[in-house]
Amino acid sequence: MLTLAPFASTEKNTRGRQFPEKPPNNRTEYQRDRDRIVHSAAFRRLEYKTQVFVNHEGDMFRTRLTHSLEVAQISRTIARALNVNEELTEAISLAHDLGHTPFGHAGQDALNECMKDYGGFEHNLQSLRIVDQLEEKYAEFDGLNLTFETREGILKHCSIRNAKKLDKLGARFINNQQPGIEAQIANVADEIAYNNHDVDDGLRAGFLSIEQMCEVTLFAEQHEYVMQKYPGISARRAIHEIIRRMINRQISDFLAATTTQIKTIQPQSRHAMTLLSHPIVTYNEPMKKMTQQLKKTLRKNLYQHYRVHRMSIKAKKVITSLFNVFMHDTKTLPPEAYTYAMEGHTTLGDKGHAIAIADYIAGMTDRYAIREYERIFNPTQLT
Ligand code: MG
Repeated sequence: MLTLAPFASTEKNTRGRQFPEKPPNNRTEYQRDRDRIVHSAAFRRLEYKTQVFVNHEGDMFRTRLTHSLEVAQISRTIARALNVNEELTEAISLAHDLGHTPFGHAGQDALNECMKDYGGFEHNLQSLRIVDQLEEKYAEFDGLNLTFETREGILKHCSIRNAKKLDKLGARFINNQQPGIEAQIANVADEIAYNNHDVDDGLRAGFLSIEQMCEVTLFAEQHEYVMQKYPGISARRAIHEIIRRMINRQISDFLAATTTQIKTIQPQSRHAMTLLSHPIVTYNEPMKKMTQQLKKTLRKNLYQHYRVHRMSIKAKKVITSLFNVFMHDTKTLPPEAYTYAMEGHTTLGDKGHAIAIADYIAGMTDRYAIREYERIFNPTQLT
């Protein structure tokens, strides 16, 4: 087996699982984490959760599931090139969006607003809550009992207030330390994936135009190259050729810049690397600026597009209405969710009740949330 870099996460330096288990027979500990994530109910639901476009808007758009697969693919490429733990970065990537509500960021914002008197709602913390507590699959523990390193990677960001409640996992936010390099890679791979696939989806939907995108250096460079090399190429193929080159360009830059940092800093262990005050992974300066420019264009022209905004308004309405009715008329809840909400009430009062409702709503797919809304609020619908 290949020897990994001295600062990579390995089974030797793992901080282990919350509930000790026998080592797996035919896989590594991190493969086991990945497999548990793939077999989870929350992972399957990603198929019907919005990335930017609501799931029913078309079969061609990314969903949270295909997004997560693209993140994992980019992460693995990077991890292998840097000689760090590919299986761990894959596990983190596949799990990183498990806690997302239906309807993407509009759904998250709405649920956070509903939960403001009860500690708020944050999808990143929810991802951790799913793998630590909510999945009911194993006889001996709640959640998936993942390794510390996978859980650490899932918790990408965290407020100091919440970090204080998280013991070992929260410590790095309080002490301004870094997670393992595999988590840092998954984080950047997430950005590379969505920045590029959102261009693809945005163009496909007609919300972005080639002219707009040519104002973005990263896109314009590859556009010029592809049009010169393949004159007469169809629009569809041209977009793919441009985007695949953009991804490649970002990954190559990222690998070069990160390799230089590693050579300069020469961290001798995983622990030494986590003590750095900044992530060891990085882009070169010009690429940092170019990715900022790309993000800005996407924000202005895609995420704030009037049709995306209309969808956000509807999403907020669905989430807020469901939360309020489940909170104030508990008998509208189906039996299992009702019991769960009552248990929450018994342990933590209104706050426990609200958290149970938030868990229930966050776990819904887009289409399930819409159906629930229709069943409850549309008098012509069967209940
Ligand atoms: Mg993501």
